[in-house]
Amino acid sequence: MNESILIVEDEQELCMTLGDRLRSEGYVVDFAVDGRDGLEKATHIPFDLIILDIMLPFRSGLDLCSEIRRAGLATPILLLTARSQTVDKVVGLKLGADDYVTKPFDTLELMARVEALLRRSPARSGVTPSSEPEVYQCGPIVLDVKRTKVTHNGKPVNLTAREFHLLHYFAKHLGVTLSRDELLLQVWGHKAGTFTRTVDVHVANLRQKLELSPKKPEMIITVPGIGYRFQV
Ligand code: CA
Repeated sequence: MNESILIVEDEQELCMTLGDRLRSEGYVVDFAVDGRDGLEKATHIPFDLIILDIMLPFRSGLDLCSEIRRAGLATPILLLTARSQTVDKVVGLKLGADDYVTKPFDTLELMARVEALLRRSPARSGVTPSSEPEVYQCGPIVLDVKRTKVTHNGKPVNLTAREFHLLHYFAKHLGVTLSRDELLLQVWGHKAGTFTRTVDVHVANLRQKLELSPKKPEMIITVPGIGYRFQV
């Protein structure tokens, strides 16, 4: 599944330009044109990233930022600020935004920020690099943490960032039964009971890409009523 991005922005032209560009890079894009709609979508649909304008009708982007965090969501937030809003940047970062770009911005720069935020999963920020192996060998699967590369019987497997993080977490807990809630928290940063369906969708995608017969998985096993176990 492609990563999904929510753009909360009331300038229609900017929405179009940004949306087209992100789509051409393979992202799934959704829009909200005011603060109310933005908050509704951000807290009810699991996005991989939120691009959030500060000046919005009804609720400001800064408001949304703190509301999203208060809802227990760790979705990366990229703020769009005007040049005159220097104070807002600082406030925004304090309220839980992860990064910001100043309008008018260069699309290339924005794309780079988006990519960087998507690669920096909430689950990975607490990991000290020295305590973790750089490469996991799990049967036919080799996961290279540093280069974010996965091979299956020596052949490269094309995973999205989120799929990679999920497989990474499985590899770290080989043979251990993991609940959906734990996966949701560790891989997505979402609190228990929120978007459990997300886990199933991503597991299905991983099976498609890694299992010989995805319908009869032999590596990513369903543990009824609990979640999944990765075994080789
Ligand atoms: Ca605006």
